[in-house]
Amino acid sequence: MSAFQNAMRQLDDAAKIAEIDARAVEALRAPEHIREFDISVAMDSGATKIFKGYRVQYNSWRGPYKGGIRYHQNVDLDEVKALGFWMTIKTAVVDIPMGGGKGGVIVNPKELSEGELERLTRGYVRAVKEYIGPNVDVPAPDVNTTPQIMAWFADEYCKLAPSSTCRAVVTGKPVPAGGSEGRGTATAQGGFYVLVSALEKMGIPVSNARIAIQGFGNAGGVMAELCHAAGMRVIAVSDSQGGIYNQNGFVPAHVSAWKQEYKTVVGFPETRSVFNEELLELECDVLIPAALENVITEKNAGKVKAKLIVELANGPTTPEADEILKTRGIVVVPDVLANAGGVTVSYFEWEQNMK
Ligand code: NAD
Repeated sequence: MSAFQNAMRQLDDAAKIAEIDARAVEALRAPEHIREFDISVAMDSGATKIFKGYRVQYNSWRGPYKGGIRYHQNVDLDEVKALGFWMTIKTAVVDIPMGGGKGGVIVNPKELSEGELERLTRGYVRAVKEYIGPNVDVPAPDVNTTPQIMAWFADEYCKLAPSSTCRAVVTGKPVPAGGSEGRGTATAQGGFYVLVSALEKMGIPVSNARIAIQGFGNAGGVMAELCHAAGMRVIAVSDSQGGIYNQNGFVPAHVSAWKQEYKTVVGFPETRSVFNEELLELECDVLIPAALENVITEKNAGKVKAKLIVELANGPTTPEADEILKTRGIVVVPDVLANAGGVTVSYFEWEQNMK
């Protein structure tokens, strides 16, 4: 099933339990607006390249659309719709006055120079300028989009639509560009609070709890450091190149330094290499998917050995896998709660910029 089909199945399942009005459920089945556009970028070579971009404005019942922009080669409209739906639920879960949206560009940003990345981002803003704004739609970072990219975004928008509050058009900016203290670590920090609370409820000691994390970026990398600082044992992490494992644990900050130098966690000393699929099935207490969606499926849910899954990524578990995990007594903290720290601090940033 596609990510959006999974999301709709989750909607149906939740609607039954929560007895949600059938008309509301029907309205939540489709985004309010889908913006699809081409972004023409002048490449360093002198050539012009066209990239496909999306902005899905899923739902605005609670306030301006809110949700990140993803730069990834596998972005497609179905995925952006699913992510926009999950944002709609997430902003409601943490009760902030915002709706849900998401954006994406089909691009492998690792193949672009910094200048090309900047021109792509500014091109994205020009393509959607009519449809976004501090009171209308407020994007943010997601996979492969950094605070610097958010700063370019705000700068371009403020050139096109100058006002005293124009920087509030996007969150996740660096602090000097109008960002909020703590936004960079907020997604993981929120997930960490949820993790500790779940461990306590389940009677699993925090100290030495064995943690495996898939994805070592903004969400997963910071989470690894927070877990380590709290005395947990981070035994496995991974990135798009593969993973590393040592049952005695390792120091995530050292892995970050290694990744900085070698562009991957793979090869970190005194660890064994594991495939990303293997990481999900390791003997551990807590599994934290923090990369992409649809990684825990009906094929591997039966092999997961963790007692607790904390979904730092959006949509990592399919509905079929959810059923299997439930039968096996494995607790899953859903994404719309586990990773809501990011959008919560994004909301603070937006508030600060609106004054
Ligand atoms: P990021 O770009 O900072 O990091 C992504 C990480 O995933 C990188 O380490 C990358 O190497 C790894 N990765 C990519 N493809 C992979 C693969 N096939 N297998 C294993 N690892 C892979 O992105 P991020 O912001 O950390 O986002 C990660 C997840 O968290 C996404 O699902 C995103 O939607 C979610 N999320 C992020 C935020 C935020 O504030 N950044 C907020 C809420 C949810």
